[in-house]
Amino acid sequence: MQNIQDKVVVITGASSGLGEAAARLLAAEGAKLVLGARRLDRLQALAAELNLGDSAAVETDVTDFEQVKVLVDHAVATHGRIDVILNNAGLMPHSLLERGKVEDWDRMIDVNLKGTLYGIGAALPHMTRQKSGHIINVSSVAGHKVRQTSAVYAATKTAVRVISEGLRMEMKPHNVRVTVISPGAVESELADSITEPDVKKNIDAFYEANAIPASTFANMVAFAMSQPADVDINEILFRPTSQEL
Ligand code: NDP
Repeated sequence: MQNIQDKVVVITGASSGLGEAAARLLAAEGAKLVLGARRLDRLQALAAELNLGDSAAVETDVTDFEQVKVLVDHAVATHGRIDVILNNAGLMPHSLLERGKVEDWDRMIDVNLKGTLYGIGAALPHMTRQKSGHIINVSSVAGHKVRQTSAVYAATKTAVRVISEGLRMEMKPHNVRVTVISPGAVESELADSITEPDVKKNIDAFYEANAIPASTFANMVAFAMSQPADVDINEILFRPTSQEL
């Protein structure tokens, strides 16, 4: 792995699952990390375990632009720059539309879609000024395929891909790279966000049968970051070998 040592990386949703796994791998490769999520106790425990320093954990709700800005500005104030933002925070409360889970729809739009936009919005002033940077957004297989119960989640993840492609084109004059990573079933706490017991039962069984370790996602992040500065990995779509969908 190259080009990771000393890079300043902000990760949203670093308190569990894919974000935590990315933090572990990037810390091992010598990146300077700033971790955001709402569960500060989990972030602080991870930061302590990885020897990231006292100020690496920042309580952040990505549905609030000001909080995301504080997270990113804190990374720049601490380390003098930001090289990468991993817009990873998300949730997946699948349900049939006919059940009218308006609160779940709102949360997915607020966290998965607007939270990603807020991460982009907070990082861009620094990256365009630096004339360098790398924005890594997390979509999903659901950003490529929709099925019953996943309509709203798939819509948010499709939107993340669309925004990433528009951003990629706009960033050419600024030397900022844009990657969107679309995982299949990966072990994490994601299914805990499902509020409909019958849907959760099905998803839990699917994950139990198919999910691959969160380190697989971390490897994809590291692969994109490792490329020479003139190579821009735009899309990564990966699944468990056993996953048909
Ligand atoms: P987890 O539930 O394990 O992690 C989700 C993370 O998002 C947590 O750290 C959580 O932290 C954070 N988060 C949720 N809401 C907010 C918020 N309002 N503000 C800040 N952080 C928030 O699931 P994953 O690790 O699986 O999910 C990470 C990303 O990967 C998501 O975008 C998900 O959609 C995507 N993904 C996951 C797949 C999988 O199979 N696991 C497949 C495809 C995509 P906290 O609660 O502390 O705020």
